[in-house]
Amino acid sequence: RTGTPEPGDGEGGRVTAGDSDRVSLRAVGVTKSFGRVEVLRGVSTDIPSHGTTAIIGPSGSGKTTFLRCLNGLELPDSGRIEVEGEIMPWSNGRPILGRRREREAARVRQEFGFVFQRFNLWPHMTALENVTEGPIRVRRMVAAEAKELGRSLLARVGLEQKIDEYPRRLSGGQQQRVAIARALAMEPKILLFDEATSALDPEMVGEVLEVMKDLAYQGMTMVCVTHEIGFAREVAHKVIMMDDGSIVEEGTPGEVFDTPKSDRTARFLSKVL
Ligand code: ADP
Repeated sequence: RTGTPEPGDGEGGRVTAGDSDRVSLRAVGVTKSFGRVEVLRGVSTDIPSHGTTAIIGPSGSGKTTFLRCLNGLELPDSGRIEVEGEIMPWSNGRPILGRRREREAARVRQEFGFVFQRFNLWPHMTALENVTEGPIRVRRMVAAEAKELGRSLLARVGLEQKIDEYPRRLSGGQQQRVAIARALAMEPKILLFDEATSALDPEMVGEVLEVMKDLAYQGMTMVCVTHEIGFAREVAHKVIMMDDGSIVEEGTPGEVFDTPKSDRTARFLSKVL
């Protein structure tokens, strides 16, 4: 098989087909070391368009580093990243040097939205200002238009009542929903989530997962590093299991969760399920 799963494989079965047989992102032989520790040992995979890919695996297995390599927050030592067939400027161990390369990298990076474990909102800006900052500064949108967009995105994540609040007055779940709205405001082609619910109090996990599920059902291309197996089972088109810097196995949620091929996957699942 190609590794491109059938849509709607999750138990929710509500995932629309989209064109998830198309590849949005491709990693080929990505390696990365920090000092003498090899954190990624040649990771290759395809990320389908308009589908959700969940990356699971034990702590320290390289999931976050791999995610950060996808959009150039980390530079791979070797291997390459392709977005819709275009080789990324941070690939093949080339450091990003020179104004032209920097500009090229900045342009491509705009195709990605990134949602961090810790929401990283600007504390001195209201929820609305956090969302409109990117469109105004980077997309050169006029303020009124950006506000309109910001309001509609905050409504989409259920925060229309909170647009003028500062982050310190919002719960963790609300802050993370603002962070998702902020990422969406840049109209990214691909949204990357790095354990977006791990820093939240348990009672707030659900509201953030609901927003992520809505995006998945709307056909957003998403790559989520997550410990939420239920979420992955429900919405993912593809599940990637990583251990010790490598992909141990990948497939549909049914394949990976119900009939894991690898002992390491089975052992990991027995601990988290
Ligand atoms: P995971 O997301 O699966 O928990 P990570 O990608 O965060 O794994 O980390 C993989 C390994 O790389 C860990 O051993 C971690 O300590 C190490 N690591 C991650 N980032 C850095 C860094 N910036 N400098 C040094 N070591 C790092």
